[in-house]
Amino acid sequence: VFNREIIRKKPNILITGTPGTGKTTTSSALADATQFRHINIGDLVKEKNLHDGWDDDLDCYVINEDLVCDELEDLMEGGGNIVDYHGCDFFPERWFDLVIVLQTENSVLYDRLHNRGYSETKLKNNIECEIFQVLLEEAKESYSENIVMALKSDTIDDITRNVATLTDWIRAW
Ligand code: ADP
Ligand code: MN
Repeated sequence: VFNREIIRKKPNILITGTPGTGKTTTSSALADATQFRHINIGDLVKEKNLHDGWDDDLDCYVINEDLVCDELEDLMEGGGNIVDYHGCDFFPERWFDLVIVLQTENSVLYDRLHNRGYSETKLKNNIECEIFQVLLEEAKESYSENIVMALKSDTIDDITRNVATLTDWIRAW
């Protein structure tokens, strides 16, 4: 039995991090530079109804993780995907060759989320998520530590540098 990772001709990258750290901006620029497919899980969940309704307390959809994984299995097997989501513990470990955790300085993140019109509760939850490095811990628990990489995403220069680093990584794969 062959390992799927071996068959894949192109790698899959997961870009995760607290909301507002720049996952979608980075993923979209990386997809432009590499012709890889950008899969924004939040958008996919909405478009294809891969959820179990709206959570009034958390102010977001209750994602149905099984439906999301079923929906993506074939695409992921083919490689060449950039998956963009603020969570990472429910995807099959074998899907990803590289897991990027974007990180942003608190005051910078606060302003970004404030500009998005987030409620005080949602702001507080997300800032805490960033302070306690929840996504970095989740990534390290869910994937082999040697494929998990944290990248700073405070400025536009950081995005440019991160996209260049990831483009080089993809070309060398
Ligand atoms: P996420 O997908 O992680 O929630 P976005 O990519 O939607 O984050 O970015 C949120 C907002 O912050 C956008 O307005 C984006 O332009 C801005 N932004 C994200 N990353 C950076 C960065 N590294 N430098 C400057 N602005 C950024
Ligand atoms: Mn996003």
